[in-house]
Amino acid sequence: MNTKIGKLEFPSLSYDFGALEPHIDKLTMEIHYTKHHQAYFSNLLAAVKDTDTENLDFEIVLKNISKYPVAIRNNGGGHFNHSLFWSILSPNGGGEAKGELKKAIADQFGSFAKFKELFDNAAKTRFGSGWAWLGVNSDKELFVSSTPNQDNPLMDVAEQKGTPILGLDVWEHAYYLNYQNRRPDYVSAFWNVINWDEVEKRYSKLLVG
Ligand code: MN
Repeated sequence: MNTKIGKLEFPSLSYDFGALEPHIDKLTMEIHYTKHHQAYFSNLLAAVKDTDTENLDFEIVLKNISKYPVAIRNNGGGHFNHSLFWSILSPNGGGEAKGELKKAIADQFGSFAKFKELFDNAAKTRFGSGWAWLGVNSDKELFVSSTPNQDNPLMDVAEQKGTPILGLDVWEHAYYLNYQNRRPDYVSAFWNVINWDEVEKRYSKLLVG
């Protein structure tokens, strides 16, 4: 990414708020993007304004997040995680991973079904607010994990460290209007809108790097 925090931009969506229905409803998408993500972004910029951190690379700060104030951890994580999340959703999504990623998933987890089971379990059992991830570790191996709050696997505080290529937001603000307490139904619906082309692209980039 190599972007100074002070120069970060709020990402645009490549689809309409209502485009992911019935899996993710329009009002949830609108509030999630324009209110929740926007707040993390604004608060991140406010937290670094007129400090040395403003001129540091965003990913490097996330990788050393234990050395920074909690406002940067929460809002920096919030901005990174939501930017990733929007990019791996698509109205034309769903199905299974493709190409090299499909092969790597089969090699690492046994099968796509087994991977899906692990990811579902990570998403459903994350207590309180947080995220479920598919990531790539420093040995270029895939892993499934979950993190609390707005943490992510890039952070030095994460139990399982690496680069996330797929993430699911399991905060209630991501699903409550449509699914209320039924997080498992939201997690199941998520599989219908995953943009596997984007996930594969992110995976391929890490293999080269
Ligand atoms: Mn969220």
